[in-house]
Amino acid sequence: MTTNSPTISIICPCYNEEQVVSLFMERITTVLQQTEYDYEVILINDGSKDNTLSVIKQLQQQDAHIRVVNLSRNFGKEAALTAGIDLARGEVLIPIDADLQDPPELIHDFLEKWREGYDVVVAKRADRSTDSWAKKFSAEMFYKFHNAVAQVDIPENVGDFRLINRRVVNAIQLLPENQRFMKGIFSWVGFKTAVVEYKREAREAGETSFNGWKLWNFALDGITSFSTAPLRIWLYIGSFISALAFIYGSFTVVKTLIYGIDAPGYASTITIMLFLGGVQLIGIGVMGEYIGRLYMESKRRPTYIIEEDSISSPSIVKSQDDSPSQ
Ligand code: UDP
Ligand code: MG
Repeated sequence: MTTNSPTISIICPCYNEEQVVSLFMERITTVLQQTEYDYEVILINDGSKDNTLSVIKQLQQQDAHIRVVNLSRNFGKEAALTAGIDLARGEVLIPIDADLQDPPELIHDFLEKWREGYDVVVAKRADRSTDSWAKKFSAEMFYKFHNAVAQVDIPENVGDFRLINRRVVNAIQLLPENQRFMKGIFSWVGFKTAVVEYKREAREAGETSFNGWKLWNFALDGITSFSTAPLRIWLYIGSFISALAFIYGSFTVVKTLIYGIDAPGYASTITIMLFLGGVQLIGIGVMGEYIGRLYMESKRRPTYIIEEDSISSPSIVKSQDDSPSQ
């Protein structure tokens, strides 16, 4: 397997998945063996704090289809996924979560659509009943807002679980940014896309690493990566407030000419000052968000660092017992 390129590359980022990754391998291996294609499963350890690395190394010893890639620290799911996409040698790539929330059995449907000639097959969550109310609500708000302001729509309830062929991979690799919002990137490149629906299961074991604050930041990343509308809107807010100020100013002049000067209200002055101060700070905050992204991007840092890879350095993975004693 290691000499010829496989047809299917499964890309699975793993962060603290020691409890579930063996089960995942069992389920996906059954599915992959039912297809007539040759395959590889790339397990990317994204700086897990538990024993994920040793578990996947053990799995790799028993199964030559597995490739273990160990990142030098936790770079986040987007970076881990990017590493997998860069390393995969297959004709089709399938990113999938390790926690079995994405059912491996759907791969049969992916492959069927691919054989029909689609470049991309996405899996749409028809049923999110296993997600919390807050997650569903925030996801819906995110999609609505993102699609209203960004030029390219992200299809609702579609995650990273999908099939992409080589053409799409080549296109994705043309995007040079190092802060990678993969959902946006996948949509941005386009291509002929089929949709298959599925029910999102609950996590098989372990815990989600995306909660509250992290999801909020992820949403900000998504919106700022693919839209400048939050910057542009200040032009309109500013114009609107200036117009109001002009109308109020004219009104005051006319009123003074007719009725003479009376003592202006203290409360209204304070309110207007505070309001404008707040509005300006929000505007600066939004600008800061983009400047921060510019700054980070301008450093041209790599998206991820690979510490070891079972293909390029099999000796590390094979552990010391295999080497002759000195
Ligand atoms: N993941 C990762 N790095 C991280 C966080 C998550 O590689 O920093 C992986 C994780 O192991 C899983 C996938 O990304 O395979 C999705 O993560 P999770 O299940 O926590 O997210 P959710 O399904 O709740 O959105
Ligand atoms: Mg999950």
